[in-house]
Amino acid sequence: MRVVVKGGRVLTPFLDLGEMDVAIESGVIVEVGENLSGDKIIDAAGLTVAPGFIDTHFHGYGGVDFTLASSEDVLRVAGQVAKHGVTGFLASLVAAPHDVLLKASSEVAKAIESQKPGSGSRVLGLHLEGPYLNPNMRGAMDPRFFRQPSIEEFTEYYSASRGHLKQITVAPELPGATELVRRAAGMGVTVSLGHTEATYDQAVKAVLAGASKANHIFNQMRHFHHREPGVAFALLEQPNVFIEMISDLIHLHPSTVRLVARLAGPSRTVLITDAVAATGLPDGEYTLGGLKIVVKGGVSRLADTGALAGSTLTMDRAVKNMVRLGFSLADAVRMASTTPAASIGLGGKLGVVAPGYLGDLVLLDDELRVVKTIVGGVEVYGG
Ligand SMILES: [Zn+2]
Repeated sequence: MRVVVKGGRVLTPFLDLGEMDVAIESGVIVEVGENLSGDKIIDAAGLTVAPGFIDTHFHGYGGVDFTLASSEDVLRVAGQVAKHGVTGFLASLVAAPHDVLLKASSEVAKAIESQKPGSGSRVLGLHLEGPYLNPNMRGAMDPRFFRQPSIEEFTEYYSASRGHLKQITVAPELPGATELVRRAAGMGVTVSLGHTEATYDQAVKAVLAGASKANHIFNQMRHFHHREPGVAFALLEQPNVFIEMISDLIHLHPSTVRLVARLAGPSRTVLITDAVAATGLPDGEYTLGGLKIVVKGGVSRLADTGALAGSTLTMDRAVKNMVRLGFSLADAVRMASTTPAASIGLGGKLGVVAPGYLGDLVLLDDELRVVKTIVGGVEVYGG
């Protein structure tokens, strides 16, 4: 079947093509042009057509905490999160006992392998945020579950995920971390540096070993000092490192968000939500990897220490916030779609409206509200 998304303003996002049609066959974009015909027409008149958002750091939604979730839970989230324009995500796990992480890894793999096309946002893979992190930078995690890097353990996670492990967050100053970074990167797993007190030099060495991403820049990282600029500064300065950023305007001051996006630019900035199970639900008490969190006014905090515990941000709001801060919609879309895809090795497949890319689109109105979300040519929200 040939599906044509008709008459929207197409933002590739590298070009604003104006009013154009997008034809999708067998889930893949085959043509972008004028007056295209098809078996099924999706009306996009008056809307902006952009590549769907991709969230590469996402712990849960609607009461589901991926660290403790079943494959059915993961698929339920995939169905729900499409309303925020998300067409693909990594399921992020927090530090937890070894057997819990093994179980969760295999549940995510099961979700990926059993997902029916057009049933929601794509589950693109697994992200392990830990357990090889620095206890002094625990954030909202339980440091009892932090461990020393172990290639043997890592290999077990990889096997449990049946190769769907796409990203791991590591603190590079830990003993054995360099070997782990090298091994993981060599296997095609994106290595992100985070929950870390690494110095500038330690961070640069980790990049030389294969690390290619910053795990929520500035949050749970050594602070900047002009004589020891630290890990965040090192990663911002490295030209080939992707920079994850939580643009909820709570985790970072708006000025910090602007500065990071300007420094790293849209080709390196990756907007993430770091969203937890409470996202999409009212204020109240929830869990993150088993720890109690309290959400008040949409701000998620650990019940005992009061530390920020992930967010309740959604990708559509992340994009809106960037536009509010003065970035163009095209640049915001790059940071929410094209660049996240590239950061997990899916550039060339996802994140651009052009022939050859998967037919994953978000249709936005003038207020940047998500009107429709399309995955592989199928309307998964708003149809
Ligand atoms: Zn996280």
